[in-house]
Amino acid sequence: MSVYENLKDVQAIIHASSMRGKRDPSKVNIIAVTKYVSIQRASEVLDAGVIHIGENRVDEGLEKWNALGDKATWHFIGSLQSKKVKNMIDQFDYIHSLDRLSLAKEINKRMANGKKMKCFVQVNVSGEESKSGLHPNDTLPFIKELADFPAIEVVGLMTMAPFVENNELVRPFFRKLRELKEDIEGLNLPHAPCHELSMGMSNDFGIAVEEGATFVRIGTALVGNEKV
Ligand SMILES: *Cc1c(COP(=O)(O)O)cnc(C)c1O
Repeated sequence: MSVYENLKDVQAIIHASSMRGKRDPSKVNIIAVTKYVSIQRASEVLDAGVIHIGENRVDEGLEKWNALGDKATWHFIGSLQSKKVKNMIDQFDYIHSLDRLSLAKEINKRMANGKKMKCFVQVNVSGEESKSGLHPNDTLPFIKELADFPAIEVVGLMTMAPFVENNELVRPFFRKLRELKEDIEGLNLPHAPCHELSMGMSNDFGIAVEEGATFVRIGTALVGNEKV
C-alpha cells in the first residue's frame, strides 16, 4: 500500500476516535515513525502531507535528516544516550524520551544561544520493567527539578503502552497519563506548560486519541515495517 493510502486509513481512524472521545481531530498530530524504512519511503510521507518525522536512533535519524532536513519537523522518540546529544541537538525539534536529570543537564548544556528544546517527559505508566520512563509518582517532582535547566521546555508527557492482544486493556494507561498531564498542566509552571500527550502507536492509536493524544507515533500502519 502506498503511504498516501495508509495515511487515509490512519486519518479515518483518528477522525472516528476523535468523535468518540468528543475531541477536535485537528488537534491530533501524526508523527510518521520512519525508523524501519528507507529515505525514499520517508520522503513519500512528506509528499503525502505529513510534516512530523520520528526516529529512534541518532545515526539513522541523521541520515534521514541529511536527505530531508528542512522539509520536516523532527522528533527523537527513542532512548537517548547523553553522549549522543551533541550530535542531534541541532537537527531534532522535539525529544520524547526525557527521563533523567543527567540527560536534561546535557541537553541544557548543548542548546545554543537561548533556544529551548521541546521535551516530553517519558512516563512508565504500566510499570513494565522493560520500559523506560519515570514512575507516575516521580513525574511531578522530576518536572519541578527541570526548572533548573533554562533550555528545557516540558511540552508534555509521553508513554508507551504495553503490547496486548486486546486493545481495550491499554485504555487505563492512556487515561492515567492524561490525568497526570492535566494535574501538571494545571500548575502553570513556566518551564512546563505540559499541554501535549505523545501516546499511541500503530496498534493502539485509536484508543490513545479517544483518551486525549495530541501526538500519535505511527510507523507500521503508515510506512510498513520493511526496508523499502
Ligand atoms: C517504533 C516506535 C513507534 C512506532 O511503532 P509502530 O508500532 O510501528 O507504529 C512509536 N513509538 C516509539 C517510541 C517507537 O520506538
